[in-house]
Parts: sequence; structure tokens; C-alpha cells
Amino acid sequence: MEKNKSFFRPQGILVILVCLSGSLSLGLMMLFKPNASDAQSSRSVKVKDATANVGTQQRVEKLKDQMLTSWQQEAQAKGIASDVPPRFQGATIQAAKLPSGQKVVALTFDDGPWPQTTAKILDILKKNDIKSTFFVVGQNVKNYPDLVKRVVTDGHAIGNHTWHHWYHYMNPRVAAYEIDNTTNLIYQTTGVKTSLFRPPGGMMHNGVAAYARSNKYAIIMWSSDSVDYSRPAVPRLINNIFREAKAGGIVLMHDGGGDRTHTVQALPEIISKFRKQGYQFVTIPELLAMQDKEQKLIASGASRTNANKK
Ligand SMILES: [Zn+2]
Repeated sequence: MEKNKSFFRPQGILVILVCLSGSLSLGLMMLFKPNASDAQSSRSVKVKDATANVGTQQRVEKLKDQMLTSWQQEAQAKGIASDVPPRFQGATIQAAKLPSGQKVVALTFDDGPWPQTTAKILDILKKNDIKSTFFVVGQNVKNYPDLVKRVVTDGHAIGNHTWHHWYHYMNPRVAAYEIDNTTNLIYQTTGVKTSLFRPPGGMMHNGVAAYARSNKYAIIMWSSDSVDYSRPAVPRLINNIFREAKAGGIVLMHDGGGDRTHTVQALPEIISKFRKQGYQFVTIPELLAMQDKEQKLIASGASRTNANKK
């Protein structure tokens, strides 16, 4: 029995120890339980944080949308959505036919937006409080969206100058790609849906102008070519413009597509020279609206004369 007792006694101690350790660990578990629940709540905080981040992102996106919407509305309120009077839809225009007393001229800039030049030209135009028209290339709009946004927010009109600026023949499918993609990206980037088109190189017979015409774009050519793409010296560039300057004229220059430093250098003098000759500056939509008004006046005058004859 002693043996047994002695055998059981340590076992009893062991049982007690086991019980003790059991209660200890139970106690420890109870001690740690709040921590465990903290961990759980900290996990839920992290989840909440993540949800908050998603929420913030959504708010930022919503804000961006609102900004774009208000900016589009502002652009439309300013009247710079390029609406073309019906008589010019599908028509080709070299210059507006205005009475010689209406000394207005439209400056136009092609092939941008362009990182080295467009901002400089915009600065000069802003300083002189002049609105002009930019015929942009789709792939440049894609590459320099901020510049094209500034063109619109500065109050200038914008036109389509194809996506790639190709000269070669384009079948209707390619022509549609060149024109539709550019108009869509201009709209997505600036909120302006343009109805103005200028064919690269002034090419009228390679398929692209035909597509523009059938889609009711006004095809805007020019009456006064600076020939700035061949980089003439500044005085010559200016002479090129003024040799053909006239009321209702459209002046061709380039803000993109290559080195346009001469154009930037010549622009202040071009502006002051036009002003000295009594010209005011208009955008292409303004020029077309002026001619539309003029033609309506002529038409109503003619109908009055006819009515008097009867
Ligand atoms: Zn061009």
C-alpha cells in the first residue's frame, strides 16, 4: 500500500499540477482573450480602412467626373463647342466671303498639341487676348492631353486633323478610323465635339476628305499660307502671310509636327501687323457664323427685292 500510496502520491501531485496548469492556461486564455478580440477588431479596422480607401477613390473619381462635367458645361457656355451652320456642313471653305469692311481674320494652328510650342503659342495668344483655332492630330491629343485641355479652356476652337496625319490613299474604313477616333478623343479629353476638319497637307483626294464631307464636317482650308513647315526666316514667314491677307481670310500656321520656333518668334509681329491694318481676330466657328449671317442678310434682301418686283 505504501508503495501504492507512494506511487499515487506523486501522481496526485501530478494531477494537481495538471489541474493547476489547466486552470492557469484557462486563466491565461481568459487573459489573452481580450487581446484576441483586439486582434479581431484590428482586423476589422483594417477591413474598414480598405473600405474607406475604396470609398475615397470613388469620391476622387466622382469629383473628377464632376470637374470634367462642369468644365464641359463651361466650354459649351463659352460657345466653343464647334457648331457649324447647316450651309457649311460638308462644304469646303478657303475663306469667308465678307464685305471688305468686316476686317476679321482667323489664325489657325495645325499638327499639335506639341510639347515645345503649343504652350508658348497659347501664352502669346492669351497675352494679346486673341482666340484662334487649333487643328489637332489624334495621336498628339493622346500624348499631350493637358495641352489640348488648355487649348479649350483658354477659349480657342478645335478641329480634327486626323489621327496619324497620313497623306496616302485611305479606304473608307481607314478614313473612318482616322477621323472618328480623333473626334471621339477630342470629346473625351475636352468635352468639345468638333465639326471642323482639315485634311493633312490639304489633300482633298486621298479618301479622308471624302469621309469628312459625307459625315457633314466643314472642311476648313486656308487663304493665307505661312509656309512655316519649311522653316523660313521670320521676316519671310510674316511676308508669306501678309502677301495673301484679306478680310475673312484663314491663316495657316503650325504649332506642332516639328521645330516651330520661327512660328513662335513671328507670332507677336503677325498679330501687331494685323492689328495695325485694322483686323480683328476670330475663331473658325465665329468666322462661319459671320458669313452665315451675311448670307442670310443677302438672301432676305434678295427676297425683299423679289417681293417688291411682284
Ligand atoms: Zn498638318
